Parts: sequence; structure tokens; C-alpha cells
Amino acid sequence: MPEVNRRDFVKYSATAATAVVAAGTGFPGLAAASGPAPSPAVDDPTQRFDLVIAGGEVLDPSQNLRGVRDIGITNGRIRAIRHSISSDLTAQVLPAAGKLVVPGLVDLHAHVYPQASGLGLPPDELVPLTATTTYVSAGDAGANNVSGFKHWVAAQARTRILGFLHISTIGLAGFPVGEMLNLDYADVDLAAKTLAENPELLIGVKVRESRNVVGTNGLTPLRLAIQAAERSGTHARVMVHIGDAPGELSQLLDLLRPGDVLTHAYSGAGNNTVQKGKVLPAALAAKQRGVVIDVGHGGGSFDFTIAEPAIEQGLTPDTISSDIHAVSATTPGTPFLPWVMSKFLTLGFSLEQVIQMATAHPARVIDRVAGLGTLAVGAPGDVSVFERVEGPVTFVDTAKHQRRGTVFLRPITAVKAGRPFTLPFPGPVPYPQPFGYP
Ligand SMILES: [Zn+2]
Repeated sequence: MPEVNRRDFVKYSATAATAVVAAGTGFPGLAAASGPAPSPAVDDPTQRFDLVIAGGEVLDPSQNLRGVRDIGITNGRIRAIRHSISSDLTAQVLPAAGKLVVPGLVDLHAHVYPQASGLGLPPDELVPLTATTTYVSAGDAGANNVSGFKHWVAAQARTRILGFLHISTIGLAGFPVGEMLNLDYADVDLAAKTLAENPELLIGVKVRESRNVVGTNGLTPLRLAIQAAERSGTHARVMVHIGDAPGELSQLLDLLRPGDVLTHAYSGAGNNTVQKGKVLPAALAAKQRGVVIDVGHGGGSFDFTIAEPAIEQGLTPDTISSDIHAVSATTPGTPFLPWVMSKFLTLGFSLEQVIQMATAHPARVIDRVAGLGTLAVGAPGDVSVFERVEGPVTFVDTAKHQRRGTVFLRPITAVKAGRPFTLPFPGPVPYPQPFGYP
């Protein structure tokens, strides 16, 4: 596999960005989804389906679709979106009248390596609380323990799992001890090799740049993460966590390449993207060259008093992610993805924008699964179902600031590759039923 140097990576990303901007998505810096294009729409009225999601208000920003529709899924893929599909044509019906039906949510920053990282939660158990079908592990595993993540989490979860490999070989196993206090844990060659060997699972390198994580090592962990990404030859991205980062934040931001991900962009933990009321020019410049601005709410990384001026001054999010983990889940900000999305409704984004920032946009960052994050015919049959609850609601950030809203999204259920989490499994998976049941 040829080495990809920094210049090639930038060139590659810039070309992709041009193509994406030219296509009118308004979301620069990210390559379009790779792999074979979804098969063309052939709308056969006699076609039979494994599952029909019936009567919901379907909202898919990727095709400017919003309206009451039935969605037909067969063999794990979306095969039809019609005003009505007869129940005679399907093995199962998931009733969705009065509900909001959107592409399966994609959470770009989550911690889903239970029992092995210091923070992990079991992804499938999150589904009733999140209706999320794809989770990206944000550095739970490093090169020494990613095999366990691959075999015991990704291979066994019903949810779709990808990950950023931590630049530290031990990942977040040592949490809360800073994994980059000792740079000996950063093995660039081993990280690069691990990325190259697992391109279907690993989309990049994670690094945390907080003073309590890196000690006196400054920005060296970030530089090593970028080296590993470039050495891997996989166009790997770097996801960098900020919040009380060492040194000048602008220096850190200037290191990020197009396609890299700045997570905790609205952290108020210190050394913030907004200083003295002004968003840092280096943060705007990063966004402009295609660095992905990610929310990563978590237990200590989302502050309304940073987010509001940042957004007003142009540092808008590209992706809304939760940073859900065993510690953040019980904090007052309750960073379950639909709840975090609801906060952005309150911040003035439209429902379409918010859905897009938690579906098509993070799917494009993943760039591994054609059609992911959309409901296009031929796309994976990943669907999230919500109730849109109207009425007064109070949101709390991680600094305990409160904001009043008028609407929130309540998770109802999710469908992954055509299999709903809430219905009996169709054959051949056994489901307890009386002998002779028709
Ligand atoms: Zn995190």
C-alpha cells in the first residue's frame, strides 16, 4: 500500500471537498461516501418486503424529503419509499403514524467498549435511550486492545460500530489517568499498522489534548497522531479532543488538516474556541479549510455560553455527537444523542439541519458505507424513529447553564439493516411462539 504523505492527504481532501461543494451540499472538507453506489431505484409495485415502516413523517435531508411515507426494506436495504405500501406485501410492519422517521442516527463520538475501557457502555443497550444505529468509538481502544474491540464489540453488536484508534496503545483503559502523561504509550508505527490492517473498522486516530491528559507533553501527542494517520496510508482522520488544552489553542487548531475532526468544539473547560467573547480566527480558518467541527457534548464539554457566540460568529457545527459514556450519562447535561440534538433545535437550527448533522454529515466523515445516513433507495436499512414532543422543556449544559426550549426528540426505536430493535425477530432467528402457530 503506498504511503500517503501530508501533501497528498490535503490534495485528496481538497479534491473531495471541491466535488462535495460543487454538488451543493454546503458541507466542505469531507469525501463523498466510498464503495459501490446504491443500486438504482426500480419501483416495482408487486415487490415484497421484509419490513415496512408505516405511516411515519419521513424526514431525509439528503433527498430533501419530508412527508408521510411508507418505507419498504428487503435484505437489509431500503427498497421503496412510497405514499402507501400494502401490508399484504410485507412480512412485518413497524407502525410509525404520528412519529418522525429519519435515517439511522450516526454518533461520531461515543464510548462503546464496555468492560475494557474505563468509560465504555454497551452500544445495543443504548438504543432504547438513543434510537441510534451507528456508533463511532472515540479512542476507547489503542493498538494493544483494539483486537478485543473488534471481536467482542464490533462483531457482536447489532448496532453498526466503527472507531477511532487511540494514539495511546492502551486507549482509554487507564481512565481517569491521562493516557498521554507518558509518551511511551504513543507508538506511531504500531498505530499506523493497526489502522492499515483494519480499514473497515478504524476511520482515524483519536488524541486528547487537555493538560490533565498530556501533562508537560504539549501538542506532541497530536503531532504523533497526525504522523500515525499519514503513515497508515488509509486517509485516516485525526479526532482531537480539546478542553483546557496546553499552550495557545490557535497553534493546535493550525495543525489540523482538512477532514480532521475537532471534538468538544463548544467546551467551556478553559482555553476555549471563544475567548473574550470572540471566536478564535484560527478556529474559523480551520472550519473554512474543511476541519470537521464536532460537538462531543459529554459530561464536561458543552457550554451554551461558548456555543452561542461561536455559532453566531460562524463556528457552526458540522456534526452533532454525544460523547456518551459511563460517567457522562448521569451528568445533568444527559448527553444522549437525541437530547443533544434537541439542544441545537433550541439554539435555532432547523429540524432538517439537526438531523443532517447527526446522519448524513457524520456518515460522510466515516466514509466507509455507501448510502449510510440517508434513506435513499439502495441505502442500508438503518432508520431511527422519534416522537417530536412539543411543550416547554429545560436543557442544561455541562456548566449547569439552563436554556428553555419548546420541542425535543424522544427516542422510540431504531431499525438496523432492516431489523427493528423492538419487534420479534423474523425467521430464521428463533422467536418463542406456541408450537403450530401459523
Ligand atoms: Zn469522549
